[in-house]
Amino acid sequence: MDLETFRRRCTDFLTAHATGITVTSAEDPRGETILNESKAFQAKVAEAGLAGLTYPVEFGGQGLSHDYERIWKEEASRFPVMNANLGISQGMCLPMLNEYGTDEQRALYQAKLISADEVWCQMFSEPGAGSDVASLGTSAVLDGDEWIVNGQKVWTTLAHVCDRGILIARTNPDAPKHRGISMFIVDMNAPGVEVRPIHQIDGGMRFNEVFFTDVRIAADHQVGPLNEGWRLATAMLMYERVAIGTSQLGAVLHDRADRLIHEARKRGLIDDPVLRQELMKMYSAEVCHSVGGLRSRAALQSGKTPGPAGSLGKLIGSTIAEHYRDLLAQVCGMSAVAGPGSPALSNQVLSTFASGIAGGTNEIQRNIIGERVLGLPREPSVDKDVPFRELKAGTQATG
Ligand SMILES: Cc1cc2nc3c(=O)[nH]c(=O)nc-3n(C[C@H](O)[C@H](O)[C@H](O)COP(=O)(O)OP(=O)(O)OC[C@H]3O[C@@H](n4cnc5c(N)ncnc54)[C@H](O)[C@@H]3O)c2cc1C
Repeated sequence: MDLETFRRRCTDFLTAHATGITVTSAEDPRGETILNESKAFQAKVAEAGLAGLTYPVEFGGQGLSHDYERIWKEEASRFPVMNANLGISQGMCLPMLNEYGTDEQRALYQAKLISADEVWCQMFSEPGAGSDVASLGTSAVLDGDEWIVNGQKVWTTLAHVCDRGILIARTNPDAPKHRGISMFIVDMNAPGVEVRPIHQIDGGMRFNEVFFTDVRIAADHQVGPLNEGWRLATAMLMYERVAIGTSQLGAVLHDRADRLIHEARKRGLIDDPVLRQELMKMYSAEVCHSVGGLRSRAALQSGKTPGPAGSLGKLIGSTIAEHYRDLLAQVCGMSAVAGPGSPALSNQVLSTFASGIAGGTNEIQRNIIGERVLGLPREPSVDKDVPFRELKAGTQATG
C-alpha cells in the first residue's frame, strides 16, 4: 500500500475509534480503567492491521518500513492519547523481546504484546538498588531446568495488572556486580509472586512492591546470554529514556504551554509581561524538546538502537515538568491545590515530581550525558572488579 493511502487508512481508523479515554488519572488511582480502555483500543488497532507496523509478520507485526510507523504516529498525535499505561509494555518490553528474545519466546509472546492482549512490567529497582541498579540482590539459582528466584523489587509500575514482567536478577554473586546479572521473563501470576501497592503523593497507587519467594522460572524464559543481563538492562533503560523523553507521539507538541495560557486567560493574567515571558519560555522549551524527540525517534526508526543521547530528552522533559509545576502554581495560586478543578490541577502539580526520578534521576542523566555524550572523565568506580558477594552494596550494605 502506498504511503498516502496508508495515511488515509490511519486517519479513518483514528476518527472512528480514538475518541479519548473516559476517566482522568485522578479518577483512576490504580490505573486499571485507563489500562483496560487502552487495551480495548489497541485490540482494535491490531484487528485493523495497524499495530506492530515495523515488527516481523511471523511474530505478529506488519513487516512494514519505518515510514509507515512515522505516518501512524503523526496521525495519532492529532487525536486524544489512547495508549496510556501501555508505555512500558509496548515502548520497552516489546522492543527488548524483539531484539534479544529467542524465536521461541517471540513466537509465544510478541503478537500478544503488540495487540496488548498481554501487558508486561519492568522489574529492575530494588530498595537498595535504584540509581545503582547493578547492586541488585534478588537472586536466581538454577535448579535442573528451572530458575528459583528470591528477593524484592520496588516501584514496579502497574505490576498489579500485568501478565508478565521483565526481571533482572543476580545469577553469579562471585562475579563483579555488573557481570553476574541475567534477564528473565516472569509470569506475574506464578506461585510465590506477591504484589503490594505503594501509595503515591498524588493519591495514585500505580506502582508496587513485588516480592519473590521461591518463584520458579523455566530455563527457556531467560532472555539473552547468561550473566550478560547488565548489557540488556542498559539497552532497556535506553528504550525507556527515549520513550519517556520523547513521549509516544510523533509531532511537535506544546500542550503544557497551551494549558497555562488557557488558565492565565481565565484568570485575567494573560497581559502580565513577566508571566508572558515565562509562558513563551515554556512554549519554546516544549517545541525544542519535541523536535529533539522527533530526531531521537527518527534515529530509532532508521534502525539504530537508542544511545545515551536519549538521556538528554529525558532530562529536558523533566526540567520542563518542573517549570510547568512552578508556573501552574503561580497562575492558579490556591486553586492549584484547593477549590473548583483542584483535584485535576493538584494532580498535575504533584505528578511532576515523578518525572525527575522515573527511568533514572536527573543527576544520573547528567552523569550519562557528561561521561558518554560529552566524553568527560568517568565517576570513580572502586567496586568495578570486586566480586558482588564481598560488596557492601544494595541490601548487603546493612548485612
Ligand atoms: C513514577 C515512577 C515509576 C517507576 N517505575 C519503575 C518500574 O516500573 N520499574 C522499576 O524497576 N523501577 C521503577 N521506578 C524506579 C526508578 O527507576 C528509581 O526510583 C530511580 O532509578 C531512582 O532510584 P532510587 O529511588 O532508589 O533513588 P536513589 O538511587 O537512592 O537516589 C537518591 C538520590 O541520590 C542521587 N544519586 C544517586 N546516585 C548518584 C550518583 N552516582 N551521582 C549523583 N547523584 C546520585 C539521586 O539522583 C537521587 O537524588 C519508578 C520510579 C518512579 C518515580
